[in-house]
Amino acid sequence: MAKTVETHEADRDEQARPVDVVIIGAGFAGLYAVYRFRDQMGLEVQAYETGDGVGGTWYWNRYPGARCDSESFYYCFSFDRELAQDWEWSGKYPEQPEIEGYLNHVADRFALRRSIQLSTRVTRARFDDATHRWEVETEHGERVSARYLISAVGCLSAANLPEISGRDQFEGELCHTARWPKDGIDFSGKRVGLIGTGSTGIQATPVIASQADHLTVFQRTPNFTVPARHAAFAPEDQAAIKRDYDDIFKRTRESPAGFPYFPIDRSTHDVPPEERETILEGLWEEGGFKFLWGGFNDLTRDPAANEIASEFIRNKIRATVEDPETAELLCPTCHPYGSKRPPIDTDYYVSFNRDNVDLVDIKTHPIEEITATGLRTAQEEYDLDVLVFATGFDAMTGSLLKIDIEGSGGVRLADTWRDGPRTFLGLQIAGFPNLFTVTGPGSPSVLTNMPVAIEHHVNWIADCVKYMTDNGQTCVEATQSAQDAWADHVADIAAGSLMASSNSWYVGANIPGKPRAVAPYTGGQPQYRARCDEVVAFRP
Ligand SMILES: Cc1cc2nc3c(=O)[nH]c(=O)nc-3n(C[C@H](O)[C@H](O)[C@H](O)COP(=O)(O)OP(=O)(O)OC[C@H]3O[C@@H](n4cnc5c(N)ncnc54)[C@H](O)[C@@H]3O)c2cc1C
Repeated sequence: MAKTVETHEADRDEQARPVDVVIIGAGFAGLYAVYRFRDQMGLEVQAYETGDGVGGTWYWNRYPGARCDSESFYYCFSFDRELAQDWEWSGKYPEQPEIEGYLNHVADRFALRRSIQLSTRVTRARFDDATHRWEVETEHGERVSARYLISAVGCLSAANLPEISGRDQFEGELCHTARWPKDGIDFSGKRVGLIGTGSTGIQATPVIASQADHLTVFQRTPNFTVPARHAAFAPEDQAAIKRDYDDIFKRTRESPAGFPYFPIDRSTHDVPPEERETILEGLWEEGGFKFLWGGFNDLTRDPAANEIASEFIRNKIRATVEDPETAELLCPTCHPYGSKRPPIDTDYYVSFNRDNVDLVDIKTHPIEEITATGLRTAQEEYDLDVLVFATGFDAMTGSLLKIDIEGSGGVRLADTWRDGPRTFLGLQIAGFPNLFTVTGPGSPSVLTNMPVAIEHHVNWIADCVKYMTDNGQTCVEATQSAQDAWADHVADIAAGSLMASSNSWYVGANIPGKPRAVAPYTGGQPQYRARCDEVVAFRP
């Protein structure tokens, strides 16, 4: 587990400005880390953010239809009671501008901007074994030296733009959904192509369809999606949420996935078929993520139970989509429901009943080339004015590995993780002292409502730093044996989940050459938090 080393006076490089903590990123994680380390612990903090605004995910993902799919009233910070009481969410699943507005409000309310340098990418970080400090370099050549380096770079922030032959010769407008222009894209009168049918493509399709002259959706893998059932909040909803907030936040910290709800502990097989159907129908009507865990406890691990829920969704697709051929094309058959990130939607399947929307199967007829005027598959050529890449992210490790990180003894993170990421609790990496990764691989991260996981991590790291400061220690590092035990446990527990067998970004399958491994911890928050608490209880 953690080892500490006695104080060693820093032999600071004159050129590097000394601070206590460098934070990389200014999304939910970076913002809270600035507040926690600077305002609550009195440390000198410098944060860097590539974007020219704060908000992370909600700064970059401005594509039409972008919304959260955790409900707003718990997809937010819980650390400040007045913040929660003052902020008004307009409805269940707000769109990107509202969430970006909330995160800007947080930055202003706690005066966080003065510690965040925007438009600045961190390019390199090197640990000095003699001084126990990180030297951090930015794209502008600036250098700072920090005792602690906090990665808040995000699990879903390195946009994945696939290498498709001819991509650069397209003469129309080409855009990745996570790098969407601030002025938006005017789709009126345009022929639009959209590649990718994950959560983002599913959110964007109905909105682009309603604006464009024509939309062609290029689908490699069909996806299961459940209706979101978005609704505006009435004043009495707002009042009830605020009255209940302490309990809501408490439940988010205790439940397996950071939601204020607890899964039903009932096997699909213990319920007769008609009753099962009624339960699934009720969940479908209610909408949202609950479909995965709000009816039965075995959908993520038992293939037979999962198949019942999967077929229920396929039947909904068949009942919604008028053209039987299109409906069958939209029905996923090669992965179980929930083994990829489960999207929720507003009017996705029904969009394929519109005259101006076509679905193209690029599994059977792959894209061969992007041309100057559109796109050519093995079967046909498509003329397009706009090409939208809804192709997701190099998830979990992409943004961290883009930084040239050198740990103790000059060991590079890229080499250490060559066969896949291994961490201690997703918080630390053996060989990289004083580096902390907020929601790193090996933690529940993307399998939770993330602000809850983020606050937990930042608080754990802050407590660790406080302990070290109070005890005059300057170096903390996961031991190799503790890391091996944790990483093996992460792999063992994932092996029993249906996620392990699907080709999704959870296992890195969307990035050519990426080592395959279930990156997030699938054991749930309670078990995970208990392990984090054990480490705190351990005193060397
Ligand atoms: C479209 C979309 C919808 C989502 N909806 C939900 C949801 O409903 N519920 C949920 O729980 N999660 C959702 N997520 C996941 C979401 O990423 C997290 O909820 C949360 O926003 C992550 O916050 P973060 O601060 O950890 O990372 P991010 O918000 O990704 O912020 C990381 C920041 O670090 C910056 N950065 C990275 N590398 C560097 C560098 N080298 N130098 C400087 N800056 C750098 C990036 O520019 C980015 O702004 C969604 C993700 C997407 C993409």
